[in-house]
Amino acid sequence: MIGVLGGTFDPIHFGHLRPALEVHEQLRLDELRFVPCHVPPHREEPATPARHRLAMVERAVAGVPGFRADRRELDRAGPSYTVDTLRDLRAEIGPQAPLVLIMGMDAFSGLHTWHRWRAIPALAHVVVAHRPGAETPPGTAFRRVADIAPDPEPLRNRPCGLFHFQPVTQLDISATAIRGVLQTGRSARYLLPDSVCAYIDEHGLYPVITRETRSSQE
Ligand code: ATP
Repeated sequence: MIGVLGGTFDPIHFGHLRPALEVHEQLRLDELRFVPCHVPPHREEPATPARHRLAMVERAVAGVPGFRADRRELDRAGPSYTVDTLRDLRAEIGPQAPLVLIMGMDAFSGLHTWHRWRAIPALAHVVVAHRPGAETPPGTAFRRVADIAPDPEPLRNRPCGLFHFQPVTQLDISATAIRGVLQTGRSARYLLPDSVCAYIDEHGLYPVITRETRSSQE
C-alpha cells in the first residue's frame, strides 16, 4: 500500500514528518511519497523555487525507511492538481494496489473545493491525520462520495474509496511560522530536521527581512 502526502513544503518540517511517520506505521504502508507541488492551485505560488523545495524534502527523507521524495508534479506544467497525481500513480501501480492520499485536517476541510475532487475516491483512499480525541467534522461533502472506515485495516483490502481519520501526534508547526522565524533572524532549530536547516543556510533561503529590504520591496 502506497501513501501520498502532497504539499508546498516551503520548507518541510516536523509537523509534516512526525504525523507522516505515524500514519506510515499505523497503516503499515510499503512506501510514503512526499510530493512537492509545482504551482499550488489554491494559493499563491511559493516564493521558494520548486527545485529547492524538492531538495529540502529529499534531505528530510534521506535514509528514512519507507519515505521517498516524488518529483512528478515538478515535471508537469500548469497547476498541480492532486487528481492528476493520483491518476499518474494509479497507472504506475495498477488497478488493484491500495493507494492512500494523506492530508491534515485543515486540508481535508477544503477538499470539496479541489479540482475534480469527486473523482478522488475512485483513485485512492483518503486518510486524514488528526488530533487524538478531536471530533471528526460532521457532514463534510466527502462523506457523500466515500465510506468511512473506523479503523485502517479495510483500506488494505481494496484499492480506493474509503476514508479514515487517523489520530496522530499534532505538532503546532507551520511553514509560514518557520519562514517568519528565519526572516526575523531567529533560529528554526528543532522545528525541522537539521539537514533541512543546513540546506536553508547553504542556499540562503528565507533571508532576514530588514526595514531597508522591506521598504525597497514596497
Ligand atoms: P504553510 O504554512 O506555508 O501554509 P504548511 O506548514 O501548512 O505550509 P503544507 O505544505 O501546506 O504545509 O502542508 C502539506 C500537508 O501537510 C497538508 O495536508 C497539511 O494539512 C499538512 N500539515 C501541515 N502542517 C501540519 C502539522 N503541523 N500537523 C499536521 N499536518 C500538517
